[in-house]
Amino acid sequence: MLAPEQRIVGIVLTVPAKFAKRLAEVYKLTPPVDVRSLLRQYADVVDAVISINGVDGVCLNLKVPGKRARVVINSSNHRLRRRFTEAHELGHIVIPWHWGTIVDHLDPNHIEAKGEYWVHEDEANQFAAEILMPSGWLSRLLTSTQDLSECHVRLCHDCEVSAQAAAKRLSSQLPPNIIFVSERGGMVEFSGRTSGTLASAPIWGVPFEPSIFHYADLHQVSVFGHRRLHWWTLPHEIKCSTTDLRPWREVLDAITADLDVPLEKRKRFKMSVNGVLSLANSTVKREGTHTAEAVVAACLQRFNGRDDLFGIANHPNFMDFVIKRAEELTKPK
Ligand SMILES: [Zn+2]
Repeated sequence: MLAPEQRIVGIVLTVPAKFAKRLAEVYKLTPPVDVRSLLRQYADVVDAVISINGVDGVCLNLKVPGKRARVVINSSNHRLRRRFTEAHELGHIVIPWHWGTIVDHLDPNHIEAKGEYWVHEDEANQFAAEILMPSGWLSRLLTSTQDLSECHVRLCHDCEVSAQAAAKRLSSQLPPNIIFVSERGGMVEFSGRTSGTLASAPIWGVPFEPSIFHYADLHQVSVFGHRRLHWWTLPHEIKCSTTDLRPWREVLDAITADLDVPLEKRKRFKMSVNGVLSLANSTVKREGTHTAEAVVAACLQRFNGRDDLFGIANHPNFMDFVIKRAEELTKPK
């Protein structure tokens, strides 16, 4: 388990986040930020029902000489979503190279715009995240609170942001090997992982499986309203040994037979298994911590939850196979 100070990724503020930080210093802002009043200092703000699907807000007259910016917020959205939209629109106003009229869809799945539009959207989102959930405040929270699920609740509650925006923000400040899930009504409402994590986050909208990361070092859970917020810290290294004397190829052959992989698919199955393993190995190698223990940990992340591999990770000899391969791959040449 990582000590609190090891859990925080060195925070490098992006340029839009720096604009937000400067603004927060000027106005002495602390969470929960009254973003609506702040936005009013820079623009005329109106609420209106925008019936076009997925449109959260519109920003008009950006950097138009002699004109005050005008912002329309979609009043049919949830309060927390409107708060994020307001912070996002403020970002467009403050960031000097955003100009003209911008129609905002916070959810990128709604439209197919490309290039500069999404660069600007991403920048406005970085600004919004920093204004609503300041990095300094978040660093202090992470150093004072051991429990990531509790940090998640505090972010939602103290910063008045949605559980999803809070999870995204929190995970952006954490090191690899961390996964989160918001469980609602027994289903995965949303999920994600920190940058550099090999394990896949559970698919959204499927039934929640409590033991999915059974090999985690830590599983922290907090209840927030109708949700259960889960945070797993996965091991970076797993110390283990095997007493199995067979070469790894024999172990894999035996596992393949036990799993009832059809004869004609066995060659391809074993190639897939070795492919997943090689990928885990090369990732570890790239990170510069090429030990057998790290390769085993990476393999667990890669193999668990792979439904297409006949549940190989649940086979009693799976670890024997992985340990043998990991030892071989990391043996000094
Ligand atoms: Zn935008």
